[in-house]
Amino acid sequence: MTSPLPASALLNESDDEGRNRRSGGRKHKAGHRVAVSPSRKSHAEIEPPVTIRSLSEAIGVKGNELLRKLMNQGVAATINSTLDDEAAQMLALDFGVELDIVYEETAEDHMLASFESDEEGENRIPRPPVITILGHVDHGKTSLLDRIRKANVVASESGGITQHIGAYQVEHDGKPITFVDTPGHEAFTAMRARGANVTDIVVLVVAADDGVMPQTREAIAHAKAAEVPIVVALNKIDLPNVNINKIFGELSQEELVPEEYGGDTPVIKTSATTGQGIPELLEMLGIVAELRCDLRANPERPATGTCLEASISEGRGVVATVLVQDGTLKVGDVIVCGDGFGRVRALFDDKGHLVETAGPSTPVEVSGLDAVPTAGEKFAVLDDVSQAREIAQTRRLRTRGAALGERQSVTLENLFDRMAEQKVKSLNLILKADVQGSLEALSKELEKLENAEVPVRVLLKAVGGISESDVLLADASQAIIVGFRVAPEDRAITAAEEKNIDIRRYDIIYQVTDEIKKAIEGMLVPETKEVHLGRAVVRQVFRISRIGTVAGCFVTQGTIERGAKARLIREGREIYKGSIDALKRFKDDVKEVAQNFECGIKISNFDDVKTDDVIEAYRIDIIRRTL
Ligand code: GDP
Repeated sequence: MTSPLPASALLNESDDEGRNRRSGGRKHKAGHRVAVSPSRKSHAEIEPPVTIRSLSEAIGVKGNELLRKLMNQGVAATINSTLDDEAAQMLALDFGVELDIVYEETAEDHMLASFESDEEGENRIPRPPVITILGHVDHGKTSLLDRIRKANVVASESGGITQHIGAYQVEHDGKPITFVDTPGHEAFTAMRARGANVTDIVVLVVAADDGVMPQTREAIAHAKAAEVPIVVALNKIDLPNVNINKIFGELSQEELVPEEYGGDTPVIKTSATTGQGIPELLEMLGIVAELRCDLRANPERPATGTCLEASISEGRGVVATVLVQDGTLKVGDVIVCGDGFGRVRALFDDKGHLVETAGPSTPVEVSGLDAVPTAGEKFAVLDDVSQAREIAQTRRLRTRGAALGERQSVTLENLFDRMAEQKVKSLNLILKADVQGSLEALSKELEKLENAEVPVRVLLKAVGGISESDVLLADASQAIIVGFRVAPEDRAITAAEEKNIDIRRYDIIYQVTDEIKKAIEGMLVPETKEVHLGRAVVRQVFRISRIGTVAGCFVTQGTIERGAKARLIREGREIYKGSIDALKRFKDDVKEVAQNFECGIKISNFDDVKTDDVIEAYRIDIIRRTL
C-alpha cells in the first residue's frame, strides 16, 4: 500500500472557510455501519483506511469526480490511493459532506475512558489544589515560586531540596498546595491542547512598577480559556512609587475587577524579595480552592495523571515527572504514558526522597518507562503489562507513521539537519507582529541573514495574532511561524501541536535574528545538564585478574549507580573521567548503592585507583527543548 496522501497535498486550493466548518473527527464505532447510498449527503461516516473508492461510496460522489478534484489541486491519485484522515475530510468537504472517520475501539480507548470515569461517592475526598503561576516576563514568577518554596518547606525537610522535578508541594496551615513550575502560558495551553488541564488556579503575577503588559493580557486570555479562577499577585510591592490604582484600573479593563473595587478577583500584594504577602497569597489559594473549585479525588483507585516533563539519562533511563491527578500511584504499578510503558521502578518526591506511593495532586518523579513521554501526555495505571505493551505499541506505530510521512515539519532545532538531508531547501517563515512598524523592522533584519546556503523566504507577513490558517499554511509549506509580540489563537495552538508546527514567539528583535541565525548554523542542539548522583570514598583497592582494579568504597553522599558517569578525584583534583562499569555489594552485582553503604566499584578503563580517592557519580540529562 502506498503511503496515504497527506492533507497538506490538498491545501493549495480548497477554501479556508470550508476547512473551518469541518466538524468531522475521530469517532468510535457504535456497532453499526452507515448504509451506502448513491445520493449525495451532508454527513457520512467511514472506516479507515480511506481510499478514493471507499470515500466515493461513503459520500456518494463518483470516484472520477474525486480524482478530478484532486488533479485540479495538483495531486495525482488513483481509485485505490489511500488518503489520510484529514485529507479525506477536506476532500469530502469540497463536496459539501462532513466526514467522520470511525475507528474500532482499542485497548487504548478503554484506557482513555478510565480518565473520564467520573465516579461519585464518598470515596472522593478533597485533594490539594494545583497552581500555575503566569505573567509577563520579569514580573517575578520565578522569584515568587522560589520564595514560596523556600519559606514553606516542612521544617524537617529543610536542606533537602536538591531535586528539581518541575513541580512541588508546600504546606500552609497544615494544608498542602501543589505548584507547577511556571512553564509560560504557551506551554500551559499546549498542555491543554493535549487534553491535559492540570491547573486548578492560576496566579497571575503583575509587577507593581510595570502593570498589565502584553504577556499579562495573553496569560489572562489563556487562564480564562482554561476556565480556571485567577488570583492576582501584585508583586514587587516593595518598590517605591507604585501606583496601585492605575494597575487596578488596568486589571478591571481586562475584566479582572479587584475585590477592593467591588469585583471578584482577589489581588494580593506580594514581594518575592521581602516575602511580604506570601502567607496571604497561600491563604487565598486555599480559600479559592475551597470555595470556587470542588477539588476531589479518590485515592483508592489506580492512578491517572499527566506528565509534566521528562528526560532520559544515561544512568537512570527514562525519568518522568508526573502529576497524579486521581488515585494513588505505587511502586510496581504498570503504567502507560504517551507511547511509553513500563513498571514503576522508583518514585521520588519533590525533595528527592524515595517514596512508595503518591496520592492525588502529588508530583513525583517516575522511573521505569521505556520511552520518553512529552509534557502534557496523560498516564494511567493498567492491570497488566501485556495491555500496556499493546497500547504503547499502537501509539508508537502511529507516531512512526506520522514521522515517516511527507509531513515531517521543520523546526528551528531540526532545520539544519533537514537542510543537510536536502529535505528543506530554504527557511520559510510566516511573520506575524503587533504593528506594521515591527513587521518591517523584522523583515529587514531577517533579509540580512540571507545567504547562499540558506535562503530565507518570508511566505506571509501580517499584523495580528497567529491564526489556525497560519498554522495550516506553515504545515503546507514547511514553514516556521514567528510571532512578534503577538499570541497564537487557541485553535492555532491546537493545530500547531497536532501538526508539529514550530511557532516561535519573541518580543525583542535581536532574539529573533539571534535564534534564527543559530538555527541556520545548526546551533540549536538539545540542552544537556549534569545531575550529581553521589560520592564514594575509596577505602581499599583490590586487584582482580581479568577484571582489573576494583575500588572498595563507602558511599558518603547520595547514591552510586551502575552505568553512571564518574569522576575520580584525588586530593581535590579531577584525575580521570569515565563511567561506573561494575557495582557490587559483597559478591552481587547491584544497580545502585545508597549513602552509608559499602560497595565495590570498577571504573571503566582505569586501574590506577588509590585509597582515599573520591569517586563522584553523575549523569547527563538531555532536556527536551520546549517552547
Ligand atoms: P519572571 O521572568 O517573571 O520569572 O521574573 P523573575 O522572577 O526572574 O524576576 C525578574 C526580576 O525581578 C529579577 O531581577 C528579580 O530579582 C526581580 N524581582 C522579582 N520579584 C521581586 C519583588 O517582589 N521585588 C523586587 N524589588 N524585585 C523583584
